Amino acid sequence: MKNVMKKLKFKLKNVSFLLMLLNICLVNAQVYPLKKIVVIDPGHGGIDPGALGLHRQEKDITLDIALELKKWNNMFFKNELDLYLTRDSDTLISLADRRKLASALKADAFISIHCNSAHKGARGIEIFTTKKTGQQTTVSQNLAQSILDEFRLQLGFLSRGIKKARYSVLSQSFNQYPAILIETGFISSEDESMYLADKKHIQAVALAILMGIKNHLNLKL
Ligand SMILES: [Zn+2]
Repeated sequence: MKNVMKKLKFKLKNVSFLLMLLNICLVNAQVYPLKKIVVIDPGHGGIDPGALGLHRQEKDITLDIALELKKWNNMFFKNELDLYLTRDSDTLISLADRRKLASALKADAFISIHCNSAHKGARGIEIFTTKKTGQQTTVSQNLAQSILDEFRLQLGFLSRGIKKARYSVLSQSFNQYPAILIETGFISSEDESMYLADKKHIQAVALAILMGIKNHLNLKL
């Protein structure tokens, strides 16, 4: 009996310790609201180079932008955003896995980064949302507008507007999380391809995306 009591006491102590811990977590959660979760998806990778471009391949540009974005968030904004990349190296991730990450994390924003390619005279930035209508459609459009404004006003890009498309990587987003796909200029045009071949400009593009997210989420960074 003594032994049983001893064990019971030990158990009770554990339970009260856990409750105390839970209480601390709840108090802290009220003081420090949860960070906004943002998933950045560098398009293509590995055996899929995307558009070849006049100077660099699409998969390398999109990865560089994503890595710079992570650096800005860390160094300049003290990790104010909880930022996740779908890939941080030259590997190919399936479109389904990219979507799954955003869904599992209950992301506040999913941003797929790409570069455009067409005839040599095509220029400008365009941002896509899914064609499906759902509770997240308007939020996605607002996020797209916020980032488009940064590209137009801060970097001087021509705006080709916000468009809708049936892109697989955006297909589950309409009722789960806000999601957009950014075409950050045409790497088939000489000037925009040259622009995106320069590291300083890649940093500027990453900052424009980050500021667009910040403005959309109303964060005081
Ligand atoms: Zn692409």
